[in-house]
Amino acid sequence: MRALVCDFDGLILDTETVVFDSWRSVYAEHGLELPRAEWVAAIGTSGPCFDPLAGLLDLVASEAVALEDSPNGVRAAKAAGLFCVAVPGPITRGLDFAEADRVLPSLAEWSLDDLLATRASGPPRGR
Ligand SMILES: [Mg+2]
Repeated sequence: MRALVCDFDGLILDTETVVFDSWRSVYAEHGLELPRAEWVAAIGTSGPCFDPLAGLLDLVASEAVALEDSPNGVRAAKAAGLFCVAVPGPITRGLDFAEADRVLPSLAEWSLDDLLATRASGPPRGR
C-alpha cells in the first residue's frame, strides 16, 4: 500500500450534519420540508476523483486504500478499482454500504496498522 486516499467532508470532519441542518432551517423558514433521505442520496456525488489522484501519484489502484463516508464515495472508489473502507458518519449511518470492502463504525479506535490489517482479513462488523 502506497497511498491512503481520505474523503474530507463527513469523514475527517462532520461537515455534513451542519450543512444539512442549515439547509433544513432555510427550507423551514419558507414552510418547506427538506427530506433527509433526498439530502443524503446526494452526498458524495461530486464526481469520480480517484483516477486523477492515482495518475498524479503514479499509482495503480491496488496500491491505494480509500476511506469514504458515503455510498456515492464508495461507488467512485470502487469504480476506480480501489480497496475501500467505509466509515459512515452521523448523516450517512444506516445507508447501504454493501459495495465497500470493509465498514468501520469509527476511525477513533483504529490505528493505521489496524486499518491496513482490515484489508487482509476484515474486522468483525460490530467492532
Ligand atoms: Mg464525504
